[in-house]
Amino acid sequence: MSKIEEIKPLRIDPKFRYEIARMPDGKNILQCFQCGTCTSDCPVARFNEKYRPRNIIRMAQLGLREKVLSSDFLWLCASCFTCTDRCPQGVEVASVIRALKNLAAIEGRIPQIFRAQLGNLLKTGYICEIPETRIRKRDSIGLPPLPKGNAEGIYRSLRDLRIMKVIGVAKA
Ligand code: SF4
Ligand code: SF4
Repeated sequence: MSKIEEIKPLRIDPKFRYEIARMPDGKNILQCFQCGTCTSDCPVARFNEKYRPRNIIRMAQLGLREKVLSSDFLWLCASCFTCTDRCPQGVEVASVIRALKNLAAIEGRIPQIFRAQLGNLLKTGYICEIPETRIRKRDSIGLPPLPKGNAEGIYRSLRDLRIMKVIGVAKA
């Protein structure tokens, strides 16, 4: 028998769905009737049985703020917008998921991998730090040097965003 998790009333935020509905592209969240089309067409759901956009929308509708914002699966969304294109109710599923990620990020709930990628971006201009061995390998097979990343420009573009304070990025 599958385990049914008890949901305590104190863990429910009845205003959460309205908070989402007021966000850009969030207004149709209340129209979701749980048909599952978004999940059946989602390329991530195809490879990860825990990832179900339909469930994310339902959790948001039910006010399970804490549960959805602290979940790891929220960050698996590839923002391909297939779900949005297919939803018969006009729910902007991908945008709602992006809004949920933004809310999670504002509260500092950002997976380590994304913190690391932002750190790399600010340091080198690349999302991944390119190892010296890779650079030497390129050189040995006659490939041209990689273009220099514009870390300064990226920092200037991002420095006023709230996320920079949330993750504690400080740069002179
Ligand atoms: S496709 Fe739209 S209506 Fe159907 S479950 Fe997904 S969000 Fe809800
Ligand atoms: S936007 Fe996200 S939830 Fe929607 S289909 Fe693409 S990966 Fe799945």
